[in-house]
Amino acid sequence: MKSSSTPKVQLVGAGPGDPELLTLKAIRAIRSATVLLVDDLVGEGVMKFARKSTRVVYVGKRGGCASTPQAFIEKLMALEALHGERVVRLKGGDPFVFGRGGEEAQHLRAQGIEVEIVNGITSGLAAATSIGAPLTHRDHAHGVMFITGHPRGGDDALHWPTLAAAAAQGVTLVIYMGISSIDSLQAGLLQGLGSDTPAAVIQHASLPTQRHIQTTLGDLAAMVRRESIGSPAIIVIGDVLRAANLLCVGRGEEPCRLRG
Ligand code: SAH
Repeated sequence: MKSSSTPKVQLVGAGPGDPELLTLKAIRAIRSATVLLVDDLVGEGVMKFARKSTRVVYVGKRGGCASTPQAFIEKLMALEALHGERVVRLKGGDPFVFGRGGEEAQHLRAQGIEVEIVNGITSGLAAATSIGAPLTHRDHAHGVMFITGHPRGGDDALHWPTLAAAAAQGVTLVIYMGISSIDSLQAGLLQGLGSDTPAAVIQHASLPTQRHIQTTLGDLAAMVRRESIGSPAIIVIGDVLRAANLLCVGRGEEPCRLRG
């Protein structure tokens, strides 16, 4: 269905994967889309809300080749919107948390295209909750930092010892895209935190394939390797894990307990 109104794109957060964690706004947007551009991290279950007539473009590796270049995605969105299509860009988690949503919105607005952002539950939040860990706790953590382990500019763009100092002050660290740099992030954090600091890694949070480990900062990289934990995964570091009543509300997982 084409409309003659102002061209518009909705950047919609699809949440961490479990379709039950979608917002009502997200479902409405997916249902009304005529063109859906879908990222790799969008759960399969989310796609059942799309109409059969909707054109679905997978712009991640699922599309058959390596991820589609960002410039192409931005061009395609603009083109479709200018043709009067109802374009929804579906992104894992929240579009404004490490999702390039900011860049895409800027690009679209610069071409006179209206942009609406629909929040989603970010995977860092869902991952912690899935193992029963609050990110803040009045007795143990008075703040949270969402950090990328894979910043533009490479490893040098992050100073892990500084982040460790924040964590030592009671700030929970939630690290996205950290698995490939697990050794350097562990070494950097150990400069400001004890090796017995609790750490957890949650892979495929909220999905039936969810797995997680609970360990200490000193054993983090070794345990990730031992247990073959891969991407996508969230790393949580902080005393709040010690305090948490780790319920393992993840699907079908064994009841768990912090080691040590
Ligand atoms: N916008 C997304 C983040 C995109 S960056 C959000 O708000 O969640 C991609 C990274 O997100 C992955 O490398 C991984 O660290 C994390 N991630 C996304 N979905 C995840 C999931 N279901 N379980 C664990 N980590 C996930």
